[in-house]
Amino acid sequence: MLTKDQFADNHFIRTIIEEDLKSGKHTAIQTRFPPEPNGYLHIGHAKSICLNFGLAYIYDGQCNLRFDDTNPEKENQEYVDSIKEDVRWLGFEWSGEPRYASDYFDQLFDYAVGLIKEGKAYVDDLTPEEMREYRGTLTEPGKNSPYRDRSVEENLDLFYKMRDGAFPDGSKTLRLKIDMASGNINLRDPVIYRIRRAHHHNTGDKWCIYPMYDYTHALSDAIENITHSLCTLEFESHRPLYDWVVENTPVTGKPRQYEFSRLELLYSITSKRKLNQLVTEGHVSGWDDPRMPTISGMRRRGYTPEGLRLFAKRVGISKSENIVDMSVLEGAIREELENSAPRLMAVLDPLKVTLTNFEAGKTQSRSAAFHPNHEAMGSREVPVSPTIYIERDDFAENPPKGFKRLTPGGEVRLRHGYVIRCDEVVKDAAGNVVELKCSIDHDTLGKNPEGRKVKGVIHWVSAEHAAPITVRLYDRLFTVERPDAVRGDDGEYLPFTDFLNPESVREITAYAESAVQNLPPESHWQFERIGYFVTDRKDHTADKPVFNKTVGLKDTWQKAA
Ligand code: ATP
Ligand code: MG
Repeated sequence: MLTKDQFADNHFIRTIIEEDLKSGKHTAIQTRFPPEPNGYLHIGHAKSICLNFGLAYIYDGQCNLRFDDTNPEKENQEYVDSIKEDVRWLGFEWSGEPRYASDYFDQLFDYAVGLIKEGKAYVDDLTPEEMREYRGTLTEPGKNSPYRDRSVEENLDLFYKMRDGAFPDGSKTLRLKIDMASGNINLRDPVIYRIRRAHHHNTGDKWCIYPMYDYTHALSDAIENITHSLCTLEFESHRPLYDWVVENTPVTGKPRQYEFSRLELLYSITSKRKLNQLVTEGHVSGWDDPRMPTISGMRRRGYTPEGLRLFAKRVGISKSENIVDMSVLEGAIREELENSAPRLMAVLDPLKVTLTNFEAGKTQSRSAAFHPNHEAMGSREVPVSPTIYIERDDFAENPPKGFKRLTPGGEVRLRHGYVIRCDEVVKDAAGNVVELKCSIDHDTLGKNPEGRKVKGVIHWVSAEHAAPITVRLYDRLFTVERPDAVRGDDGEYLPFTDFLNPESVREITAYAESAVQNLPPESHWQFERIGYFVTDRKDHTADKPVFNKTVGLKDTWQKAA
């Protein structure tokens, strides 16, 4: 359920919108989320989705979903479908049908013809290399192309022929005639059409020329009557071109572009191209691998839409650098699950404990609530039997100072159960502890023992009742904070794949309370004292449970960093 306080407050874009509504410049706001369907969405996109859909929600406006599909070679239907699914999963609904920049290709072509007729665009024959030479640099102005002064008639003729397939790929372009001496390189006669014989996921083989991003984006915004076009800061220097395109074409909409800083997440990667490389080179099992910072990966990992929205609110919206530690993301996820996930006990690294004085009829079980603060989540019996499992590291033969769990001769409370004392440690031939023999204090079920304090409480499961479960434990995917920004001795960037963590996933068999049986996929649970886990979306079945570790109970990142 969305509420208005779930979104970043008091940022500069909200201020602008509030002023625009107050002054009557706009009576309603219209935003859009404009992904290119060339990969799955990632955590950076989640920020942009929460911003665009969030603003529409807060100010009772509308937000479009528009696929910015101008690069047919890299785009496909799988990406379109995944993007729709991810936006909905995050809790948002777009206005009307999804839109496609490719829906406007006819219109964009007509506008280009109009620009040619007004002497504002020309067909150029420069090769890409020549074009680069003519473009100039940040400090030097560019030079006019020798083809810049073609007549309107010649340009029109050539542009129609470009469309009709008369020229080979890459041999000609259509460029805007703006200013080759502009201090802003984006205004040095930008290319707005190129020839490319590529099959398009939407328009098929209808076109062999495709419009370029800047031209398409500005016009798509204008066609859709977008009021506030929000993008990341690297487009700031494209804004004059955006405005030029809107002003010089007969579109009715007058969108304004505003830029905010891109989210970067440490120990992670926020680029579809690089994430695609992880998938195609097999470093991960797919786009939705639970280690991936993709929305579908995080979903499979057990992150929740509410947790991701909380994260987006916390990172906020501004123009200053937005490099965020993983602990901020995990903190938001943990905080949300703390309140929403029911609790159970599971033992990941079992040590057998024999309860020597277990007595059927005398040794009792208790019922325990699934959540200490939410009675409505219900409760279950926590059965006990002569053999139980505890976590191996909850026992220490030679306890370090301050160790509050089980030790030889020491006592500990079993969560939702009795106080037990360790009377005997059983070892194998190699000297490994293989079993503990413990006795129950039968007078401690639901009450404190007489005359002494037992501080430690540990989780456990009854061997007879426990269900085996597969558990996948995840660690960070990369070993360095900024895997795509490490330079080698020669000053060049090293491949980010050099910094993959070889131990980022481990699969084990664990034992859990029988309530884990017959769960549907995507059930979120806290395993007490360990962390949050989710039943896997793909591999979990009711009789063969598979749990992914979402996040630990404590922040282990700060320590490790
Ligand atoms: P990528 O390099 O991962 O492909 P992109 O910006 O090219 O990113 P688009 O599909 O074009 O991806 O992005 C759709 C929207 O999401 C854009 O408005 C873009 O500004 C925004 N966006 C993308 N990455 C981030 C990020 N890291 N932080 C915030 N917004 C982002
Ligand atoms: Mg892009």
